[in-house]
Amino acid sequence: MVIIKNVTDIQQYIKNKKALGCKAGFIPTMGALHSGHISLIEKARQDGLFTVCSIFLNPTQFNNKTDFEKYPVSVEGDIELLLNAGCEVLFLPPVSEIYPGGPEQTETYDFGYLDTILEGARRPGHFKGVGQVVARLLDIVLPHCLYLGQKDYQQCMVINKLVTMRDMKDVTVKVCPTIREADGLAMSSRNRRLTEAQRSVAGTIYQCLVSIESKQGSARFAIVRKECEDILTAKGFVPEYVALADARDLTLLPDFEAGRPMVALIAAWIGEIRLIDNVVLG
Ligand code: AMP
Repeated sequence: MVIIKNVTDIQQYIKNKKALGCKAGFIPTMGALHSGHISLIEKARQDGLFTVCSIFLNPTQFNNKTDFEKYPVSVEGDIELLLNAGCEVLFLPPVSEIYPGGPEQTETYDFGYLDTILEGARRPGHFKGVGQVVARLLDIVLPHCLYLGQKDYQQCMVINKLVTMRDMKDVTVKVCPTIREADGLAMSSRNRRLTEAQRSVAGTIYQCLVSIESKQGSARFAIVRKECEDILTAKGFVPEYVALADARDLTLLPDFEAGRPMVALIAAWIGEIRLIDNVVLG
């Protein structure tokens, strides 16, 4: 695996690969890698692409200073995992390579409705930062495919919209399944910060999502939502939202609708840590 830290070098590397007829599969991350990230590398490899993974802890997408300061960093371990996964290129830029004139000089995008609900409403400026960094990374890497995790459902929609707004027809966005721990907890870099006691109840979020899925058609969503909020609270969470939305455009739904593609989404705090998860209703 080659580790590249500056824009000129990675552009040259990718240009050379493309001249040989290779296509890039790009997996942007913020590091503290786990099997969820690695599953994206594996998918890109299965698709026959050469894999470019970036690790960049993007300061502009953190609306919460503590979250940024306490975000786990483990570059040595990340490199080991990427080597084992057969990743070909690790792009590991400093902030000055991504925002040479400072973030204020780097273009941002308006995601309209998507930025006003759920994560957008609770984390002001978050998607602005996500759009800013992903646009910049896409311009640098110019990948054939971009691999994202369904775990961040709304982020996937934002990035899809970004690619459409920027008319990047050469980039295919692939959303890959959420990888979970044995108890259903969605893998997340933030899970590393959970205490043993917090970790032991963290699977409750997924259990709630599964119960929402199983009760569609037999109960009102308002009742199921209240049950989930009560269960989460009893386990020590502070739920932020338990929501139901149209899976295609995230229109918030007051109740289940037969025949409509739907997704259930939860955000909840446990101590200082905010966890999110979702399940597309089958
Ligand atoms: P992050 O490092 O949290 O910015 O995540 C980088 C990419 O990995 C994003 O596309 C995430 O959606 C994806 N990802 C994070 N956790 C998981 C998971 N448990 N399963 C699948 N993909 C994930």
